Amino acid sequence: MNNISKTIGWADWSWNPITGCLNNCFYCYAKAMFNRFNKSFKPQFHPERLDEPMRFKKPSRIFVGSVTDMFADWMPEENVHKTLEIVKQCPQHTFLFLTKSPNNYHHFKFPDNCWCGATYTGEKPNNYPIYRKVQNLFWSFEPIIEPLDDYWFNGWDKWIIIGAMTGKFAKHYPVAKETIEKIIEATRHYNKPLFMKSNLKPYWNGELIQEYPG
Ligand code: SF4
Repeated sequence: MNNISKTIGWADWSWNPITGCLNNCFYCYAKAMFNRFNKSFKPQFHPERLDEPMRFKKPSRIFVGSVTDMFADWMPEENVHKTLEIVKQCPQHTFLFLTKSPNNYHHFKFPDNCWCGATYTGEKPNNYPIYRKVQNLFWSFEPIIEPLDDYWFNGWDKWIIIGAMTGKFAKHYPVAKETIEKIIEATRHYNKPLFMKSNLKPYWNGELIQEYPG
């Protein structure tokens, strides 16, 4: 596992029993990193990494699958089941998932120590009819690519994470101050925690709000 408390910020560790992704997001930092090190970005399961969280006794927030989309349509469900088996055996930790296909969450049974996140970066809202039934739902708007309309500002469950695009496309996708203000206003209105990633600093003069649920 890798310590991500200073980079990603909203979790302590990343755990990657699965790497690689077929979603092909143009802004993918993981693919760029794999390319840089001449590593394949084809989805790959790493059974030898499965026991890593079991070796950590201190309760931690663990982001599962930071360089893949574990719940994409193309992901073999068997890989996810094997990962969730380990999650069940580590009740001391909180496991955080993120996907661009949150409707697929309903194929799995999650232990209570899981938070299920959905990433929105510009798909149509009606792609997400089922996600609201997922336990401990949280939203990630990272990178913020377009202004967010009112659809997104009610009904979420647990938490909102926002961040800016990084890497070579960042200059083409600045985040409007008004978008950040709107998100802050909505989270204050609904009394929900907000985590603003440090990559928003170039777009925000105020203090970054970095709250966690509970
Ligand atoms: S879903 Fe994540 S890992 Fe997959 S291509 Fe998009 S940004 Fe990269």
